Amino acid sequence: MSEALSPPLPPFEPLPWLQPHWQRLWQTRRNDRLGHAMLLSGPAGVGKRHFADVLSAALMCTQPGTDGKPCGTCADCKLMASGSHPDLVHLGPDPESKSGEIKADAVRELCSRQSLTANRGPRAVLQIAPAEAMNPFAANSLLKTLEEPADSTLLMLISEDPSRLPATVTSRCQRVTMLPPDADTALAWLSARLDNAQRRDIGLLLRLAQDAPLRVLAAADAHWLRLRDESFRQFQAVAEGREDPLKTAGAWQQQEPALVLEWLAGWVSDLLRIGRDRNANYLSNPDLRAELAALSGRLRPAAAHQLLQQIFKARALATSTMNKQLLFESLLVRWASLTTRTH
Ligand SMILES: [Zn+2]
Repeated sequence: MSEALSPPLPPFEPLPWLQPHWQRLWQTRRNDRLGHAMLLSGPAGVGKRHFADVLSAALMCTQPGTDGKPCGTCADCKLMASGSHPDLVHLGPDPESKSGEIKADAVRELCSRQSLTANRGPRAVLQIAPAEAMNPFAANSLLKTLEEPADSTLLMLISEDPSRLPATVTSRCQRVTMLPPDADTALAWLSARLDNAQRRDIGLLLRLAQDAPLRVLAAADAHWLRLRDESFRQFQAVAEGREDPLKTAGAWQQQEPALVLEWLAGWVSDLLRIGRDRNANYLSNPDLRAELAALSGRLRPAAAHQLLQQIFKARALATSTMNKQLLFESLLVRWASLTTRTH
């Protein structure tokens, strides 16, 4: 597989599948109805943050085009591109914090009058991502700003899971819901950005990334398929009693837990699909059909359902505070006991 990283996204151009959102929002802005707060939501890898940055640049740009897109050459655009525009503030979880939450103090500081005032242009943009990381106190602090918005500020909440935000917050935001593109659009866009070796795997990567193009780019860059294949071999070996579940848990905890849990959920879901119908049309991992079919004979459907529930629960707990070794141990010991005893 190639070592080359995919090129950076164009800083002043919305992604093709988000152009309709752009046109709508730009029309809203021309009518002076953009409001004070918006909630950009959609699955991971659809392009929410990039869209928020292009829109922020357009609001800062001193000479935007007739389509509202930032010129890319003025002083404000250059500051945006270098990530140092003083009127754009990002808030996310404190990387030092173990909880992965956005805390009330951080929101209060962000919303203080100082940062709400634009330095260069007519207004400041505050981006909060992922907005669902705000704990209830933080969301409550934000609510005060939403209730008394300043004309000089646009608040952008960016969220993969807006259902975790209080309705009191979401009801005060203009909603923009972004969806992944259709397969043709995604394939065309990705083909132009990946090298030959990466292009061979596009179809499979798109399926594993649930059609989100930026996840495919990240996956290609991180050699995702190779990691998934290695993890799957270990999953197989545990079922066949060839590998110690505790040792495998040790290997898995070195990886991104959310990703491994997503793969696990995909494998067990595929085992259930094959258990119902050996020739099941849709699989999350079509390239592993033969291996999964061989494993499916080892697992009773009721047990697979229970294991899947356990994986979903683990996903809900997948924060930086959990003990990853213990989490994977409990799943893999269960998986071993379900599969190795039946045969
Ligand atoms: Zn500009």
